[in-house]
Amino acid sequence: MFGTASKAFFHLLAGTPPLKKLASRYGMRRRASFARRFIAGETTAEAIAAAKTIEGAGMQITLDHLGESLGSLAQADTATREYIDIVKAVVDSGIGRNISLKLTQLGLDVDKASCVDNLRRVLDKATPAGFFIRLDMEGSKYTEVTLEIFETLWGLGYRELGVVLQSALYRTEEDLPRILRLGARVRLVKGAYKEPKTIAHQEKHDVDGAYARQVKILMASGNDPAFATHDPSMHALALQFAGERGIASDKYEFQLLYGVRRDLQRQLVAGGSRVRIYIPFGREWFPYFMRRLGERPANVRSVVASILDERAAGR
Ligand SMILES: Cc1cc2nc3c(=O)[nH]c(=O)nc-3n(C[C@H](O)[C@H](O)[C@H](O)COP(=O)(O)OP(=O)(O)OC[C@H]3O[C@@H](n4cnc5c(N)ncnc54)[C@H](O)[C@@H]3O)c2cc1C
Repeated sequence: MFGTASKAFFHLLAGTPPLKKLASRYGMRRRASFARRFIAGETTAEAIAAAKTIEGAGMQITLDHLGESLGSLAQADTATREYIDIVKAVVDSGIGRNISLKLTQLGLDVDKASCVDNLRRVLDKATPAGFFIRLDMEGSKYTEVTLEIFETLWGLGYRELGVVLQSALYRTEEDLPRILRLGARVRLVKGAYKEPKTIAHQEKHDVDGAYARQVKILMASGNDPAFATHDPSMHALALQFAGERGIASDKYEFQLLYGVRRDLQRQLVAGGSRVRIYIPFGREWFPYFMRRLGERPANVRSVVASILDERAAGR
C-alpha cells in the first residue's frame, strides 16, 4: 500500500479540474490508452465483453458502473435508471449476475430517503433475476450511514445484498461482529481512502495486522466472505487458515480489481480458489482511476510514460 501522504495527494489531484480534463482527453480514447489498464471501457457493452473474457479464464465477475458523489436527485435518478438498464443487459448477455455500487451514486449526499428508494428500485429488478448486489464502502463520512441503510434493507428482507468493511478503520473491529450477527456477506478490504489517525491505522503494518485478524474471524464465522486484496501474504494466510480448519474453497472467495496483479489472479485460479474480478466501467472513471494510482507509485510512471508517448505521436 502506498503511504497515507500519497493517498492524500492523489485525492487532492482527483479534485483538480485541469488534470481531469487532460486525463479524460487521453485516458480512454484508444484501445491502448492508459486508463484502460484499470477500466474496462465507457459502455456496458465493453464491460460485458471484458466480463466474458474473465469468465472464460475461470473467474467470476462483479460489475461497477463508475460514478460517485452525485449532487442532485435528478442525477441520482439517472444513475438508478442506468443501473436498471445494466441489470437488463447483464441478463441478456448471460454473464454472472453480480453488481457493486456506491450509495453516493444513488443520491446519498443529497437525501438519504431518496437514496434508499433508488437502491430498492435497483434491488427490486435485480434480486428476482438472481443478482447479488454489493454496497461498496466509501470514505469514513459514509461508514455509519452505509451500514444503517444496509441493516434497514436487510430488515426488509433483502438477503442478496452484501457490504464492505475496511480494515484500516478502527471501528471495523466492532462493525465486523455487528454484520456477522446478521449472517450477512462481507467483502473485506484494507481501505482505499485517506483517513485521519484518530479513526484509522496509518501504518501499512497495522492495517495488515487488522486485515489478518479479520480474515480469520470471517473465515471462521462469516457467510461466504470475500477477501478483496492483491496482497499475496493475505491470500497465503487465508488459504492456510482454511486448510487448517478444513474450510472448503467454495465457502469463500478472493476478489481482485480489473487489471491489477493479473499474475496473481491466474495463480489463485490455478490453485483451485474461487476468484472474482471487480470490473469498473463508465464515463466517470477519473476518481476511481486516481485511487488506483494512489495505491502504487509504479502506476504513475507507466501512466505518465503513456501520456508522453501519445502526445509525442501527435495522437
Ligand atoms: C475487489 C475489490 C473491491 C474493493 N472495494 C473497495 C471498497 O468498497 N472500498 C474501499 O475502500 N476499498 C475497496 N477496495 C480497495 C482496497 O481497499 C485497497 O485500497 C486496494 O485493494 C489495495 O490494497 P491491497 O489489499 O491490494 O493491498 P496492498 O498492501 O495495498 O497491496 C499489495 C500488493 O498489491 C499490488 N497492488 C495493490 N494496489 C495496486 C494497484 N492499484 N495497482 C497495481 N498493483 C497494486 C501491489 O503489488 C502491492 O504490493 C477494493 C479492492 C478490491 C480488490
